Amino acid sequence: MQQLLLTLMTVLATTSFGFSEIKMEGAKATLEKGNQRFTEGTALAHNWQKGMVAKTGNLGQTPSVAVLTCADSRTPPEVIFDFGVGDLFVCRNAGGFDTPEVNATFEYGVAALGVHTILVLGHSKCGAVTATLEGKPVPGNISILTKALQPGIDKIHQEHSDLSKEDQLNHAVEALVRYQMIEVIKNSELLQKAKADGKLQVMGAVYDVETGKVRFLN
Ligand SMILES: [Zn+2]
Repeated sequence: MQQLLLTLMTVLATTSFGFSEIKMEGAKATLEKGNQRFTEGTALAHNWQKGMVAKTGNLGQTPSVAVLTCADSRTPPEVIFDFGVGDLFVCRNAGGFDTPEVNATFEYGVAALGVHTILVLGHSKCGAVTATLEGKPVPGNISILTKALQPGIDKIHQEHSDLSKEDQLNHAVEALVRYQMIEVIKNSELLQKAKADGKLQVMGAVYDVETGKVRFLN
């Protein structure tokens, strides 16, 4: 039975794109290569993934990389990194910020699914960050978003008062990514431990909605 299962897994693995087994050390390079395929128009992942659907459907998911990003329709992580079914464990909300639910989801990913990398991905021209920077009143529940984003970009006006609105926004997007990289870990003992044990790494990057390119932050 075990032999049969192993054979089945091998067959399924070789007939799929095989992206889901991303190694921890090579995670950044793998993401960068995927983004390169996307921007060069040589993306592989987005046709019918019979092998990966069968494999993950039958045997369960083992995503390696979790992504926290904005709900913006221009930033679908699987598309811009050219990944497929079973590869990425994604949480999105407007602006891309940690909440108890996001945090619990990432804990689940790390503790139960084998996630070893959390990528916080901001993007240029982010409407949620723009609204937070402008600080104007917003209707309904939208203030929940701007209140959540505010602490990450508190000092932008002060530190970059000489810059244009567009440049201030670019700084704010990057500052928010760096802030959320800390928040996600700070808000979870489980993630802190995984990071201290060398089982989890956190990365930050910014996606350019005009070029399609992802720039990783140092
Ligand atoms: Zn956004």
